Amino acid sequence: MSSCGLSIIIPAFNEAKTIRQNMAKLVAQLDADEIDFQIMLVDDGSSDSTWLELKALSEADKRISCLRFSRNFGKEAAICAGLKAMEGERFLVMDSDLQHPPRYIKGMMELMDETGADIVDGVKADRGEESLAYKLLARGFYKILEAASGLELNSSSDFKLMGKNVVDAICDFPEGRVFFRGLVDWIGFTKVEFLFNVDRREGDVSRFSTKKLIRFAIDSVLSYTSKPLYITVLASLIFFVCAVVLGVQTLINFFTGTAVSGFTTVILLLLIIGSVLALSLGVIGAYISRIYDEVKGRPRYIVQEIRGSCGRRQENE
Ligand code: UDP
Ligand code: MG
Repeated sequence: MSSCGLSIIIPAFNEAKTIRQNMAKLVAQLDADEIDFQIMLVDDGSSDSTWLELKALSEADKRISCLRFSRNFGKEAAICAGLKAMEGERFLVMDSDLQHPPRYIKGMMELMDETGADIVDGVKADRGEESLAYKLLARGFYKILEAASGLELNSSSDFKLMGKNVVDAICDFPEGRVFFRGLVDWIGFTKVEFLFNVDRREGDVSRFSTKKLIRFAIDSVLSYTSKPLYITVLASLIFFVCAVVLGVQTLINFFTGTAVSGFTTVILLLLIIGSVLALSLGVIGAYISRIYDEVKGRPRYIVQEIRGSCGRRQENE
């Protein structure tokens, strides 16, 4: 298919109930705004009838294509697969639940034209209706990542409009597990921010369970920065200083004949040093497991099926 104005990538996981109406709303908005578009829906190994819905959508509208993973590989992999599969001048990534509202798309494209930026970065003006636990988790996660990497990520989202050069650069990344937001932040190019209000989720609850969210947070930190490794070094240094101080005190106690009273200190030291050692080993282990995963060189995802006419090349990544 010839390249077209806007290529939209939408990951979908267990969205059978709402995908049809959401896509109808999206297409209606795009038509109203007179945007020349094509959509790639990526079924991230849903266990419900999402794939049947996607196939029906792509049969009904030539501008819609879809591909299906052989299992759930995660949203990040789905975004990568969509970006790779699409041809176009501009690429937009958005959620299937329309929490990234289609009414902003035109504005984002205009902003890109006006500023000549390569990336229009959707920034959440408010976080919308999210549970307290989610909000706290999201805030904590970004705080850690910001502290560790020095990047501004709070209130950032996957709602991004990117030029072809950016997407080509992203597609060239060899690493298996990626954190899309971090990657786009890291990659450079000219960026402009676009503030948007998060809509309510059309349909039911978030597809990210707390367990999935925690795994995602850890994964993102590991794939993004190796600072935690150095934090363990810092902790060891601090404890080394403490050890020297306490060592001197112990020796003074010994020589002045009051050595037995140090029992509490010994217990405390054992506990603290033990836990710091265990923590350090855990952090090192986490990175080694990542290295192991990368060394295995397994594909980032496996495409089971692809439908529709959009697309450049499609191979398993
Ligand atoms: N999603 C996905 N794979 C997953 C989880 C989610 O492709 O394993 C998709 C989901 O279908 C939706 C988008 O990622 O289109 C955002 O998910 P959700 O709305 O559940 O996340 P939240 O808005 O809570 O961040
Ligand atoms: Mg959502």
